[in-house]
Amino acid sequence: MTNTQLIQKLSEAHELKKDEYVQLISTHTEEDSKLLFSYSDKLRRRYYSTDVYLRGLIEFSSYCKNDCIYCGLRRSNINAQRYRLSLDDILECCKEGAELGYYTFVLQSGEDPYFTDDKICQIVSEIKKRYPDRAVTLSIGEKSRESYQAYFDAGADRYLLRHETANAEHYSRLHPPELTLENRKRCLRDLKEIGYQVGTGFMVGSPYQTAECLADDMLFLKELAPQMVGIGPFVPHSQTPFKDMPQGTAELTVFMIGLIRLTLPDALIPATTALATIDPIGREKGIQAGANVCMPNLSPMSVREKYMLYDNKACTGDESAQCRRCLERRLSSIGFVPAASRGDNISFITKRINAE
Ligand code: SAH
Repeated sequence: MTNTQLIQKLSEAHELKKDEYVQLISTHTEEDSKLLFSYSDKLRRRYYSTDVYLRGLIEFSSYCKNDCIYCGLRRSNINAQRYRLSLDDILECCKEGAELGYYTFVLQSGEDPYFTDDKICQIVSEIKKRYPDRAVTLSIGEKSRESYQAYFDAGADRYLLRHETANAEHYSRLHPPELTLENRKRCLRDLKEIGYQVGTGFMVGSPYQTAECLADDMLFLKELAPQMVGIGPFVPHSQTPFKDMPQGTAELTVFMIGLIRLTLPDALIPATTALATIDPIGREKGIQAGANVCMPNLSPMSVREKYMLYDNKACTGDESAQCRRCLERRLSSIGFVPAASRGDNISFITKRINAE
């Protein structure tokens, strides 16, 4: 089949075979991208109109016990500046976020053993007590099923855990031996079964990635059927072993966003900070390719520079209120609007209502 036919097929069937994804990923032209985005844009509008959901991101700890080869927070990076926010700091961020009109707070950190399950549960329940109409998303890594259940019972609504790559061999080249794709998948299955809205995703252009790896990612997404999918280009960090590896491209990242929109029509897909970092209008390009979420930074200014997953991270110098206004301007310039709502996954909510 030609690329045009494959894109048409994907827009109707919402899935392709592995070799068909490989063909599109490795041979697409600018014309193909245009066609893909015309479909992905239309599909996103059918489910979510021109709404873009904003998530206030609170990076509450830069300590990490893991040693992921690509990440600036890895424990071997002895030059990284480490910090932790207190419960009061976090609540202060939420207060500012609530005033700025954020209906979701995303709590993200390295895997920091200081934050025991009790502490996480306390943070979640304090936020939910103050802001019962807002969603809390956790992004704190691999935990036991019991831990995930405890956070859920404390009120957490959603959980982000990227699978990073669905190819086991590739996974082992990005991670130390103690981290396995198998356990990642176990975590994601547990999270879904417990009842979270689950987000997963991967880096585009990470070292040793091939078109086959990305096709595996697409098949894995189809199988897991997460409510959210976050992807961003790999960006090297100068104090990791991947410092000299080339960064991913905005071109391929937005092409993958288009494929994800057609594969999982109702997914919530962020235009990520990494994409905005490598391209001055990366966020806009992401939205136009089918994304419908932005995650502006809500962390205190004093710690922004210390949560460095990769070099040159965008927006670290801007106040939260500045980020909010800048985003509003950028979105409206391309005909989109920040939605004043939690922005839950539409099918997830429909299913829950039907079950009640
Ligand atoms: N500890 C949490 C949060 C990790 S940071 C967890 O494990 O889920 C969030 C995401 O940043 C990661 O999942 C990874 O996909 C991305 N990331 C890390 N280092 C990166 C890099 N060098 N370039 C691009 N993205 C990176």
